[in-house]
Amino acid sequence: MEYPIIKAENEEEASRIKAVMDELAKSKIGKQLIEDAVEHKTTVAFDGAMRAYGSYDEVKNHLRLNPTSSHDRLIGTAAHELRHAQQFQKGILLDALLDTPKTYIQNQAAIEADASATSCAACYELALQGNDKPLESLREKDPHFVNPFQNAAVQGGLENGEAYKAAFKGWFTDYCTRDSYDCLYIKMVRQRKSNCTREEENQAFMREVPVNDVVQKVCTCNGKPYLSEKETQEFFSTDDSKTVSFERFNNIYANCYRPYKLDFSKPQEEQMKEKLDLVMRPHFNYMPKRVVPEPLPLPTVENRQAAAAEKIAEKKENSDKKTVINPAVLKAKAGMSK
Ligand SMILES: [Zn+2]
Repeated sequence: MEYPIIKAENEEEASRIKAVMDELAKSKIGKQLIEDAVEHKTTVAFDGAMRAYGSYDEVKNHLRLNPTSSHDRLIGTAAHELRHAQQFQKGILLDALLDTPKTYIQNQAAIEADASATSCAACYELALQGNDKPLESLREKDPHFVNPFQNAAVQGGLENGEAYKAAFKGWFTDYCTRDSYDCLYIKMVRQRKSNCTREEENQAFMREVPVNDVVQKVCTCNGKPYLSEKETQEFFSTDDSKTVSFERFNNIYANCYRPYKLDFSKPQEEQMKEKLDLVMRPHFNYMPKRVVPEPLPLPTVENRQAAAAEKIAEKKENSDKKTVINPAVLKAKAGMSK
């Protein structure tokens, strides 16, 4: 298959990215992600200068992949970043300078957790088809969301969104990842401040973008949100969901000192809780323990047969659609071939 979304610099890069897309497209989720990217003219390229596995720029609608990653790792990364493209097509409000620190941090976490859950879903589907390498590669760095996804999936949570929900919640249990996003947030604030208007500066850190809106809009499985409004409300009102790392806590305090009229004569943590509804995250040592994964249901003859039967049925359905042809056209064609 050819992908108009690939913008490679040379043949070798083009064929590597193509191989990633080909494998990803073998899963239903991956196929849909790629189709959406094609429809919305998202572009994909390697970027040798990046440190992360991948990234998505919503302004350029461009997705970058790290060429130093292995083929198997790139499959999960591509699914994750393509999901970001889908999320932004649904219309997300996210502005490091304008948004309240709590809503920005929660919304950023929600879209990351959702993209991570999606990468699990694509890799898990491939594992069920017999290629478990992308899933294992994803697990190497991210067992905190891969294992909960797998456990829920093994227990039948694949179709009803339970596996997505488990991965989503699992994402929050890794403090290293969360710290790196807190760090990114502070960087984004600084960047926005350097080129904002006076008006924007006056409105800084005041816009409330409720996390529930973002979750209901983008965190979906089979077209339905996998977290209800009530579940989202509950999840994002725990102290843990309002935490930021020690270092970034201080940065936010400094950023919001003036706009929030913080009182320096009172304890910092008390002020941050009262005015910004933010809490300092405990040290890494207090990070929740990793979940042990249930064994993967390896492909058996039966589920391979079931998958094959499904494919045949799909093809038949497509060819049924094609058979509606005007007899006059057929006659004309027959005439031409003679
Ligand atoms: Zn991401």
